[in-house]
Amino acid sequence: MKHSKYGVNTICTHIGEIEDKQFKGAVSPIYVSTSYEFDDVDMKRYPRYFNTPNQEHLSKKIAALEHTESALIFGSGMAALSALFFTFLKSGDHLVVQNTLYGGASHFIREEFPKFGIEFTFTNGYDVSDFEAAIQPNTKLIHIETPSNPLLTITDIKGVAKLGKAHNILTSIDNTFASPINQNPIDFGIDIIMHSATKYLGGHSDILAGALAASDDLISQIWHVAKNFGGNLSDYTVWMLERSMKTLALRVKAQTKNANKIARYLEKHPDVKAVYYPGLKSHPQYKLAKAQMHGFGAMMSFELQDGLDALEFQKHLQLIKSSMSLAGVESTVLSPYLTSHALLTQEERDAIGISDQLIRFSVGIETKKDLLADIEQAINKTKTK
Ligand SMILES: *Cc1c(COP(=O)(O)O)cnc(C)c1O
Repeated sequence: MKHSKYGVNTICTHIGEIEDKQFKGAVSPIYVSTSYEFDDVDMKRYPRYFNTPNQEHLSKKIAALEHTESALIFGSGMAALSALFFTFLKSGDHLVVQNTLYGGASHFIREEFPKFGIEFTFTNGYDVSDFEAAIQPNTKLIHIETPSNPLLTITDIKGVAKLGKAHNILTSIDNTFASPINQNPIDFGIDIIMHSATKYLGGHSDILAGALAASDDLISQIWHVAKNFGGNLSDYTVWMLERSMKTLALRVKAQTKNANKIARYLEKHPDVKAVYYPGLKSHPQYKLAKAQMHGFGAMMSFELQDGLDALEFQKHLQLIKSSMSLAGVESTVLSPYLTSHALLTQEERDAIGISDQLIRFSVGIETKKDLLADIEQAINKTKTK
């Protein structure tokens, strides 16, 4: 795999820039044409072919960050995921995914796959042996997500990649929660990396986008299918995403640092029952997380002690917002049982450890002491109610 000779901040700032040859401007121009010359050109450009100047260039930045040869940018994370699934799975094939999959991906599989005769198994856990047990003769793809949402479980990336290779099955990963700053799965042998760029890559809660990164060969196979599905990102938004990604490493590192400190604070807090964060030594897979992540990320979940109402607590927060999404520069919290996992039954939620008390916390870049003070005052108000 190609590795850029540059450090991560330089890649974020400069790789994939379009030089403004005409006016010598400092940043990439936006090319909004949907029609390009076809005669005497080395490439027939059309936005749905993923090859307008802005799409083509930004994909170089994503590929460099993920240590892959190529990448494609999509209109959403789900557009990226559907292109991935429908490239490598056809009628009669079988997919293995973990039971702790992102809710949207889980619905997509359960609702759409039966219409196309594609089989699937949700594992009972997320260890390599759980994936192995789910493999069938017609399994064509194993798709993992680590750290998982919302309990931050860790799957052994290298182990799953090896398992796939041993059975001649492709492997893919949803790398959204870690971002390329904290985790580069290609280095552990995973074939395809998927991102909801709506999250860390965008980072300002104002862009819906997705991406896939892999070898030239795999990306070319995906391209042939994806151009038929037409899930591209508009060049205006591609340009916005390029602007956002210049600060990706700065943001994610600051968020990760905050999260590490806040997780430690919450873990010692008498009003907090449990903290789920892979950077805590108490996390059951701390060692595995340390071995495969550059940093532990900025997502965590926690539960207040019994008797302290989680919704009440969220209402009292003044700085930290209650919000559906995640990974923006601003800190946000949500209750998985009311949002991402609302469509599951109580029993299903109990089975995967999602209690009504669970609060998912996406840590932002704010000054740490202000975040801690906000949490503290909200806990106190919840207690005195
Ligand atoms: C948000 C998200 C997705 C879906 O991405 P969209 O951009 O909303 O389509 C997939 N996986 C994870 C882990 C996510 O957080």
